[in-house]
Amino acid sequence: MEQQFDAAVIGGGIAGYSAALTLKSLRLNALWLGDNAFGGKLARSEYVRNYPAFTGDGAEFAAALSRQAVEEAVPFTAGRADGVYAVEGGYLVTAGERQFFSRTVILCTGVSASGSIAGEAAFLGRGVSYCAVCDGALYRGKKVAAVLSSAEFSREAEYLAGFAAEVTVYCKAALPPFAANNIRVSSDMPRAVEGDLRVRRLILQSGAAVSADGVFFLRESAPPASLVGGLETDGGHVRVSRDLSTNLPGLFAAGDVTGRPYQFVKAAGEGCVAAYSVLSYLNAQKRGART
Ligand SMILES: Cc1cc2nc3c(=O)[nH]c(=O)nc-3n(C[C@H](O)[C@H](O)[C@H](O)COP(=O)(O)OP(=O)(O)OC[C@H]3O[C@@H](n4cnc5c(N)ncnc54)[C@H](O)[C@@H]3O)c2cc1C
Repeated sequence: MEQQFDAAVIGGGIAGYSAALTLKSLRLNALWLGDNAFGGKLARSEYVRNYPAFTGDGAEFAAALSRQAVEEAVPFTAGRADGVYAVEGGYLVTAGERQFFSRTVILCTGVSASGSIAGEAAFLGRGVSYCAVCDGALYRGKKVAAVLSSAEFSREAEYLAGFAAEVTVYCKAALPPFAANNIRVSSDMPRAVEGDLRVRRLILQSGAAVSADGVFFLRESAPPASLVGGLETDGGHVRVSRDLSTNLPGLFAAGDVTGRPYQFVKAAGEGCVAAYSVLSYLNAQKRGART
Protein backbone atom coordinates (compact mmCIF):
# COMPACT_ATOMS: atom_id res chain seq x y z
CA MET A 1 0.00 0.00 0.00
CA GLU A 2 1.50 3.35 -1.00
CA GLN A 3 -0.36 5.81 1.23
CA GLN A 4 -3.63 6.29 3.05
CA PHE A 5 -6.02 9.15 2.33
CA ASP A 6 -9.25 10.76 3.55
CA ALA A 7 -10.44 11.01 -0.05
CA ALA A 8 -9.32 9.65 -3.42
CA VAL A 9 -10.45 11.75 -6.38
CA ILE A 10 -10.29 9.83 -9.66
CA GLY A 11 -10.14 11.85 -12.88
CA GLY A 12 -7.90 14.69 -14.06
CA GLY A 13 -10.64 16.86 -15.60
CA ILE A 14 -12.27 19.93 -14.12
CA ALA A 15 -14.62 17.97 -11.81
CA GLY A 16 -11.66 16.12 -10.31
CA TYR A 17 -9.62 19.30 -9.98
CA SER A 18 -12.45 21.20 -8.33
CA ALA A 19 -12.96 18.32 -5.87
CA ALA A 20 -9.21 18.17 -5.10
CA LEU A 21 -8.99 21.98 -4.70
CA THR A 22 -11.96 22.04 -2.32
CA LEU A 23 -10.65 19.05 -0.31
CA LYS A 24 -7.36 20.93 0.06
CA SER A 25 -9.16 24.03 1.37
CA LEU A 26 -11.09 21.79 3.80
CA ARG A 27 -7.72 20.48 5.04
CA LEU A 28 -8.44 16.90 4.09
CA ASN A 29 -5.66 14.59 2.99
CA ALA A 30 -6.59 13.81 -0.63
CA LEU A 31 -5.20 11.80 -3.50
CA TRP A 32 -5.97 13.31 -6.93
CA LEU A 33 -5.36 10.55 -9.45
CA GLY A 34 -5.81 10.71 -13.21
CA ASP A 35 -4.28 9.68 -16.47
CA ASN A 36 -3.47 13.33 -17.17
CA ALA A 37 -4.30 16.66 -15.55
CA PHE A 38 -6.40 19.01 -17.68
CA GLY A 39 -5.73 17.06 -20.87
CA GLY A 40 -8.46 15.33 -22.87
CA LYS A 41 -11.68 17.25 -23.39
CA LEU A 42 -10.55 20.34 -21.58
CA ALA A 43 -7.55 20.95 -23.82
CA ARG A 44 -9.54 19.95 -26.92
CA SER A 45 -12.34 22.52 -26.45
CA GLU A 46 -12.20 24.93 -29.33
CA TYR A 47 -13.42 28.03 -27.53
CA VAL A 48 -14.90 28.30 -24.03
CA ARG A 49 -17.36 31.16 -23.71
CA ASN A 50 -19.78 29.91 -21.06
CA TYR A 51 -17.54 29.59 -17.98
CA PRO A 52 -17.81 32.50 -15.52
CA ALA A 53 -14.88 34.93 -15.76
CA PHE A 54 -13.10 33.05 -18.55
CA THR A 55 -13.17 33.17 -22.34
CA GLY A 56 -10.52 31.58 -24.51
CA ASP A 57 -9.56 28.31 -26.14
CA GLY A 58 -9.30 25.01 -24.30
CA ALA A 59 -5.49 25.12 -24.13
CA GLU A 60 -5.63 28.54 -22.40
CA PHE A 61 -8.31 27.26 -20.03
CA ALA A 62 -6.18 24.21 -19.18
CA ALA A 63 -3.11 26.44 -18.68
CA ALA A 64 -5.04 28.77 -16.31
CA LEU A 65 -6.25 25.81 -14.25
CA SER A 66 -2.74 24.29 -14.14
CA ARG A 67 -1.31 27.60 -12.90
CA GLN A 68 -3.89 27.72 -10.15
CA ALA A 69 -3.21 24.09 -9.17
CA VAL A 70 0.49 24.99 -8.75
CA GLU A 71 -0.27 28.20 -6.80
CA GLU A 72 -2.69 26.39 -4.49
CA ALA A 73 -0.34 23.39 -4.17
CA VAL A 74 -2.89 20.80 -5.25
CA PRO A 75 -0.77 17.73 -6.03
CA PHE A 76 -1.63 15.48 -8.98
CA THR A 77 -0.71 11.79 -9.20
CA ALA A 78 -0.50 10.37 -12.71
CA GLY A 79 -2.07 6.93 -13.03
CA ARG A 80 -5.10 5.16 -14.41
CA ALA A 81 -7.36 3.61 -11.77
CA ASP A 82 -8.34 0.11 -12.84
CA GLY A 83 -10.34 -0.96 -9.80
CA VAL A 84 -12.09 0.50 -6.74
CA TYR A 85 -12.85 -2.11 -4.07
CA ALA A 86 -14.81 -1.72 -0.83
CA VAL A 87 -12.64 -2.79 2.12
CA GLU A 88 -12.98 -2.30 5.86
CA GLY A 89 -13.06 1.42 6.66
CA GLY A 90 -13.00 2.62 3.06
CA TYR A 91 -11.82 1.74 -0.44
CA LEU A 92 -8.79 0.25 -2.10
CA VAL A 93 -7.97 2.01 -5.38
CA THR A 94 -5.68 0.10 -7.71
CA ALA A 95 -3.75 1.60 -10.62
CA GLY A 96 -1.64 -1.08 -12.27
CA GLU A 97 0.84 -2.27 -9.65
CA ARG A 98 -0.01 0.59 -7.29
CA GLN A 99 -2.56 0.49 -4.50
CA PHE A 100 -3.99 3.32 -2.43
CA PHE A 101 -6.31 3.14 0.57
CA SER A 102 -8.82 5.90 1.02
CA ARG A 103 -11.69 6.39 3.46
CA THR A 104 -13.82 7.89 0.66
CA VAL A 105 -13.75 8.15 -3.13
CA ILE A 106 -15.00 10.81 -5.57
CA LEU A 107 -15.41 9.39 -9.07
CA CYS A 108 -14.83 12.10 -11.71
CA THR A 109 -14.04 9.93 -14.70
CA GLY A 110 -16.14 11.75 -17.31
CA VAL A 111 -17.95 10.03 -20.17
CA SER A 112 -16.55 8.47 -23.28
CA ALA A 113 -17.18 10.39 -26.49
CA SER A 114 -17.12 7.21 -28.58
CA GLY A 115 -20.15 5.52 -26.92
CA SER A 116 -20.73 1.80 -26.59
CA ILE A 117 -21.64 -0.71 -29.30
CA ALA A 118 -24.31 -3.43 -29.43
CA GLY A 119 -23.55 -6.38 -27.16
CA GLU A 120 -20.76 -4.57 -25.28
CA ALA A 121 -22.58 -4.25 -21.95
CA ALA A 122 -24.11 -7.73 -22.19
CA PHE A 123 -20.69 -9.41 -22.49
CA LEU A 124 -18.94 -7.39 -19.75
CA GLY A 125 -16.88 -9.90 -17.75
CA ARG A 126 -17.59 -12.59 -20.37
CA GLY A 127 -15.01 -11.50 -22.90
CA VAL A 128 -15.50 -7.71 -22.82
CA SER A 129 -12.93 -5.78 -20.76
CA TYR A 130 -11.92 -2.14 -20.32
CA CYS A 131 -8.52 -2.76 -18.75
CA ALA A 132 -5.60 -4.39 -20.58
CA VAL A 133 -3.42 -4.46 -17.46
CA CYS A 134 -6.14 -6.12 -15.32
CA ASP A 135 -7.35 -8.76 -17.76
CA GLY A 136 -4.66 -9.14 -20.45
CA ALA A 137 -3.14 -12.25 -18.83
CA LEU A 138 -6.50 -14.05 -19.10
CA TYR A 139 -6.05 -14.15 -22.88
CA ARG A 140 -2.74 -16.00 -23.08
CA GLY A 141 -2.52 -17.66 -26.50
CA LYS A 142 -5.95 -16.35 -27.55
CA LYS A 143 -7.27 -14.14 -30.29
CA VAL A 144 -8.04 -10.67 -29.01
CA ALA A 145 -9.49 -7.44 -30.40
CA ALA A 146 -8.48 -4.02 -29.02
CA VAL A 147 -10.83 -1.17 -29.93
CA LEU A 148 -8.95 2.09 -29.35
CA SER A 149 -10.65 5.48 -29.10
CA SER A 150 -7.33 7.18 -29.89
CA ALA A 151 -3.64 6.50 -30.53
CA GLU A 152 -3.01 7.21 -26.82
CA PHE A 153 -3.97 3.61 -26.08
CA SER A 154 -1.36 2.01 -28.39
CA ARG A 155 0.76 1.00 -25.38
CA GLU A 156 -2.11 -1.05 -23.94
CA ALA A 157 -2.46 -2.85 -27.28
CA GLU A 158 1.28 -3.71 -27.19
CA TYR A 159 0.78 -4.98 -23.65
CA LEU A 160 -2.00 -7.33 -24.82
CA ALA A 161 0.28 -8.63 -27.58
CA GLY A 162 2.61 -9.92 -24.84
CA PHE A 163 -0.06 -12.48 -23.88
CA ALA A 164 -2.37 -13.04 -26.83
CA ALA A 165 -1.53 -15.12 -29.89
CA GLU A 166 -2.98 -12.40 -32.10
CA VAL A 167 -4.22 -8.87 -31.47
CA THR A 168 -6.31 -6.95 -33.99
CA VAL A 169 -6.30 -3.24 -33.20
CA TYR A 170 -9.31 -1.26 -34.41
CA CYS A 171 -8.79 2.50 -34.50
CA LYS A 172 -9.97 5.35 -36.71
CA ALA A 173 -6.88 7.46 -35.96
CA ALA A 174 -3.40 6.96 -37.43
CA LEU A 175 -1.31 4.77 -35.12
CA PRO A 176 2.44 4.65 -34.51
CA PRO A 177 4.14 1.44 -35.76
CA PHE A 178 3.87 -1.46 -33.29
CA ALA A 179 6.98 -3.34 -32.14
CA ALA A 180 5.10 -6.62 -31.61
CA ASN A 181 4.69 -8.72 -34.77
CA ASN A 182 1.40 -10.35 -33.68
CA ILE A 183 -0.56 -7.08 -34.01
CA ARG A 184 -2.54 -6.16 -37.07
CA VAL A 185 -4.42 -2.91 -37.53
CA SER A 186 -7.86 -2.28 -39.03
CA SER A 187 -9.95 0.85 -39.49
CA ASP A 188 -13.10 -1.20 -40.23
CA MET A 189 -14.54 -0.49 -36.77
CA PRO A 190 -16.66 -3.02 -34.87
CA ARG A 191 -20.37 -2.27 -34.59
CA ALA A 192 -21.46 -5.27 -32.48
CA VAL A 193 -20.13 -7.95 -30.15
CA GLU A 194 -21.71 -11.38 -30.49
CA GLY A 195 -21.35 -14.75 -28.80
CA ASP A 196 -23.07 -17.28 -26.58
CA LEU A 197 -21.89 -17.67 -22.99
CA ARG A 198 -18.77 -15.71 -23.97
CA VAL A 199 -17.67 -13.37 -26.75
CA ARG A 200 -17.13 -15.29 -30.02
CA ARG A 201 -17.05 -12.67 -32.76
CA LEU A 202 -17.21 -9.02 -33.77
CA ILE A 203 -19.39 -7.63 -36.52
CA LEU A 204 -17.60 -4.85 -38.35
CA GLN A 205 -19.02 -1.73 -40.05
CA SER A 206 -18.42 -3.41 -43.40
CA GLY A 207 -20.67 -6.31 -42.31
CA ALA A 208 -17.78 -8.78 -42.01
CA ALA A 209 -17.79 -11.13 -39.00
CA VAL A 210 -14.40 -11.83 -37.37
CA SER A 211 -13.79 -14.32 -34.58
CA ALA A 212 -12.42 -13.10 -31.23
CA ASP A 213 -12.02 -14.67 -27.77
CA GLY A 214 -11.98 -11.30 -26.07
CA VAL A 215 -12.45 -7.62 -26.87
CA PHE A 216 -10.84 -4.72 -25.02
CA PHE A 217 -12.49 -1.30 -25.34
CA LEU A 218 -9.68 1.14 -24.53
CA ARG A 219 -11.16 4.61 -24.08
CA GLU A 220 -10.65 7.69 -21.92
CA SER A 221 -13.61 6.74 -19.73
CA ALA A 222 -14.85 3.21 -19.11
CA PRO A 223 -18.42 2.65 -17.88
CA PRO A 224 -18.30 3.51 -14.16
CA ALA A 225 -19.78 0.16 -13.08
CA SER A 226 -16.82 -1.62 -14.68
CA LEU A 227 -14.51 0.28 -12.30
CA VAL A 228 -16.58 -0.08 -9.12
CA GLY A 229 -18.54 -3.28 -8.54
CA GLY A 230 -22.11 -2.80 -7.30
CA LEU A 231 -22.31 0.86 -8.31
CA GLU A 232 -25.81 1.82 -9.45
CA THR A 233 -25.94 3.49 -12.84
CA ASP A 234 -28.65 4.83 -15.05
CA GLY A 235 -28.07 4.91 -18.82
CA GLY A 236 -24.29 4.79 -18.30
CA HIS A 237 -24.25 7.61 -15.71
CA VAL A 238 -23.68 7.11 -11.99
CA ARG A 239 -26.94 7.46 -10.07
CA VAL A 240 -26.39 10.19 -7.44
CA SER A 241 -28.37 12.08 -4.80
CA ARG A 242 -28.31 15.85 -4.50
CA ASP A 243 -25.22 15.66 -2.27
CA LEU A 244 -23.57 13.53 -5.00
CA SER A 245 -23.51 10.40 -2.84
CA THR A 246 -24.02 7.09 -4.64
CA ASN A 247 -25.59 3.83 -3.45
CA LEU A 248 -22.18 2.88 -1.97
CA PRO A 249 -21.34 4.45 1.41
CA GLY A 250 -18.43 6.90 1.20
CA LEU A 251 -18.39 6.83 -2.60
CA PHE A 252 -19.39 10.03 -4.43
CA ALA A 253 -19.39 11.05 -8.09
CA ALA A 254 -19.12 14.41 -9.89
CA GLY A 255 -19.01 15.88 -13.38
CA ASP A 256 -20.08 14.37 -16.70
CA VAL A 257 -20.11 10.90 -15.14
CA THR A 258 -23.29 11.84 -13.20
CA GLY A 259 -25.18 12.92 -16.33
CA ARG A 260 -26.09 15.88 -18.49
CA PRO A 261 -25.65 18.75 -19.08
CA TYR A 262 -22.04 18.07 -20.05
CA GLN A 263 -20.64 21.48 -19.10
CA PHE A 264 -17.48 22.68 -17.36
CA VAL A 265 -19.37 24.79 -14.87
CA LYS A 266 -21.65 21.94 -13.83
CA ALA A 267 -18.66 19.59 -13.48
CA ALA A 268 -16.68 22.11 -11.40
CA GLY A 269 -19.70 22.82 -9.18
CA GLU A 270 -20.33 19.14 -8.56
CA GLY A 271 -16.65 18.54 -7.70
CA CYS A 272 -16.95 21.17 -4.99
CA VAL A 273 -20.26 19.78 -3.63
CA ALA A 274 -18.86 16.24 -3.55
CA ALA A 275 -15.84 17.43 -1.52
CA TYR A 276 -18.13 19.01 1.08
CA SER A 277 -20.17 15.81 1.16
CA VAL A 278 -16.97 13.86 1.87
CA LEU A 279 -16.33 16.17 4.84
CA SER A 280 -19.88 15.62 6.19
CA TYR A 281 -19.52 11.86 5.72
CA LEU A 282 -16.19 11.70 7.56
CA ASN A 283 -17.52 13.91 10.40
CA ALA A 284 -20.59 11.69 10.75
CA GLN A 285 -18.32 8.65 10.92
CA LYS A 286 -16.22 10.27 13.65
CA ARG A 287 -19.36 11.12 15.65
CA GLY A 288 -20.60 7.55 15.17
CA ALA A 289 -17.30 6.17 16.44
CA ARG A 290 -17.53 8.33 19.59
CA THR A 291 -21.07 7.22 20.54
C1 LIG B 1 -14.86 19.17 -28.11
C2 LIG B 1 -15.54 19.54 -26.82
C3 LIG B 1 -15.78 20.88 -26.55
C4 LIG B 1 -16.43 21.26 -25.36
N1 LIG B 1 -16.66 22.61 -25.13
C5 LIG B 1 -17.27 22.97 -24.00
C6 LIG B 1 -17.49 24.36 -23.74
O1 LIG B 1 -17.16 25.24 -24.52
N2 LIG B 1 -18.12 24.67 -22.56
C7 LIG B 1 -18.51 23.73 -21.65
O2 LIG B 1 -19.04 24.10 -20.59
N3 LIG B 1 -18.30 22.42 -21.88
C8 LIG B 1 -17.70 22.00 -23.03
N4 LIG B 1 -17.50 20.67 -23.27
C9 LIG B 1 -17.91 19.70 -22.24
C10 LIG B 1 -16.81 19.60 -21.17
O3 LIG B 1 -15.60 19.23 -21.81
C11 LIG B 1 -17.17 18.54 -20.11
O4 LIG B 1 -18.45 18.82 -19.57
C12 LIG B 1 -16.13 18.54 -18.98
O5 LIG B 1 -14.84 18.29 -19.49
C13 LIG B 1 -16.49 17.49 -17.93
O6 LIG B 1 -15.49 17.45 -16.96
P1 LIG B 1 -15.24 16.11 -16.13
O7 LIG B 1 -14.11 16.44 -15.22
O8 LIG B 1 -16.51 15.62 -15.58
O9 LIG B 1 -14.81 15.02 -17.21
P2 LIG B 1 -13.58 14.98 -18.22
O10 LIG B 1 -13.15 16.33 -18.64
O11 LIG B 1 -13.98 14.02 -19.28
O12 LIG B 1 -12.40 14.39 -17.34
C14 LIG B 1 -12.40 13.07 -16.89
C15 LIG B 1 -10.96 12.64 -16.76
O13 LIG B 1 -10.89 11.39 -16.08
C16 LIG B 1 -9.96 10.56 -16.73
N5 LIG B 1 -10.26 9.16 -16.41
C17 LIG B 1 -11.27 8.39 -16.85
N6 LIG B 1 -11.21 7.17 -16.31
C18 LIG B 1 -10.12 7.17 -15.51
C19 LIG B 1 -9.52 6.20 -14.68
N7 LIG B 1 -10.04 4.96 -14.58
N8 LIG B 1 -8.41 6.53 -13.96
C20 LIG B 1 -7.88 7.78 -14.05
N9 LIG B 1 -8.39 8.75 -14.84
C21 LIG B 1 -9.51 8.44 -15.55
C22 LIG B 1 -10.15 10.90 -18.21
O14 LIG B 1 -9.04 10.50 -18.99
C23 LIG B 1 -10.26 12.41 -18.12
O15 LIG B 1 -8.98 13.02 -18.07
C24 LIG B 1 -16.85 20.27 -24.44
C25 LIG B 1 -16.61 18.92 -24.72
C26 LIG B 1 -15.97 18.57 -25.89
C27 LIG B 1 -15.71 17.10 -26.16
